[in-house]
Amino acid sequence: MSDACDRADIEVERELAEALRKQAVRAARMQQPCGFCFNCDEIVAVGMRFCDGDCRDDFARLERARKNAGAA
Ligand SMILES: [Zn+2]
Repeated sequence: MSDACDRADIEVERELAEALRKQAVRAARMQQPCGFCFNCDEIVAVGMRFCDGDCRDDFARLERARKNAGAA
């Protein structure tokens, strides 16, 4: 009985670690300005991630919604 519980715990921990790793990779990628607005794909100045504050806010809202939905 407790063996099954231990295995389940290990499984959950493994999934959690994997989720955290993916999140870190995504966050690292997010830090990199790519020359295009992350929200609308508009060309932006070097080093910028968004073309304006509205896009930044929209993107943050979408990110939050995605997180709440539990989607990758
Ligand atoms: Zn934009």
